[in-house]
Amino acid sequence: MRVIEHLAKAQGPLFSYEIVPPPRGRSVKDIIEVVKVLAPLEPPWIDVTSHSSTTYYQEKLDGSIQKRTLRKRPGTLGICGIIQNRFKIDTVAHILCLGFSREETEDALIELSFLGIENVLALRGDMPNFQKPARMDRTTNSYAADLVAQIRDLNEGRFLDELDRADALGFCVGVAGYPEKHFEAPSLKLDIMNLKKKVDAGADYVVTQMFFDNQKYYAFVEACREAGITVPIIPGIKILKSANQLKSVPKNFYIDLPDTLAEEVHQNPQHAEEIGKRWAQKQAEDLLNSGAPGVHFYVLNDVHSVAEIVRKIK
Ligand code: FAD
Repeated sequence: MRVIEHLAKAQGPLFSYEIVPPPRGRSVKDIIEVVKVLAPLEPPWIDVTSHSSTTYYQEKLDGSIQKRTLRKRPGTLGICGIIQNRFKIDTVAHILCLGFSREETEDALIELSFLGIENVLALRGDMPNFQKPARMDRTTNSYAADLVAQIRDLNEGRFLDELDRADALGFCVGVAGYPEKHFEAPSLKLDIMNLKKKVDAGADYVVTQMFFDNQKYYAFVEACREAGITVPIIPGIKILKSANQLKSVPKNFYIDLPDTLAEEVHQNPQHAEEIGKRWAQKQAEDLLNSGAPGVHFYVLNDVHSVAEIVRKIK
């Protein structure tokens, strides 16, 4: 089922989850274990991220460590297929512009539709560490809005190869939104104007970057509505797991942490995870009580903590 249908039919609080494929060369076993923990929570859908590059460290014969970056972390399509077909849980496959040609994207979307997957999150992606040389006979999408337009065209039966018109695809399309502004955007207002371009191009819903202060989400939703964005805006949250994350989370995701949370963790670093869980639970309850369409959890390495919180709220 499509994400927007899940949202329309939800009878109670709706929790979705985002998981990451294993690094290249690792088995799919661990991610299946994560899905096994999530499955009893009856997720309406699970997002599977996509990555245009993956970095790993290799020990050379002389004992030195070499940093290597490879094109693309594979697995998104296959993992979506496993979850959808073995666990009977709907999936949202993340699809990127950067690192992929429009032709590769079209192929991936056809494969997803054959696997019965009806949902994608259309993203630009970050500048890949590994830059594949562009082929002259390939085209690319620069921004997520271009990708949304490509998916809309496929939904209308317009394939890149006009000679080979096939059946239309029927993807429900989500896009990313940033309550604290995307780090490259000069202002939140301009960023919201760019978000509107994605919705005007055909996006059905928005999922936000993680935030730890609900007021930022509420203000963002209000500004989006004022800008004419009417689609559902699903808040994304993550559990703060350790005192180290007081630095790494703002640095990696370009967001602020509330002073109260940071101070509490500073004073009790050994209890950071418990503090993080309590904070995330309060956030989720407040969001749902305030009418958010659902809560999207960035699971990362925290599946048991996420499950614990959801069981308490459900
Ligand atoms: P866009 O919407 O294209 O915007 C990128 C920047 O360009 C913004 O600053 C925007 O304001 C600006 N912009 C947009 N259009 C224009 C225009 N026409 N002219 C000038 N400026 C413009 N990354 C991954 O690699 N894999 C994932 O699976 C993944 N999943 C994510 C899931 C969520 C819910 C979120 C919030 C982010 C995710 N990301 C993922 C990160 C995302 O790829 C990065 O944040 C990326 O830098 C921006 O992607 P976007 O789709 O928001 O880009």
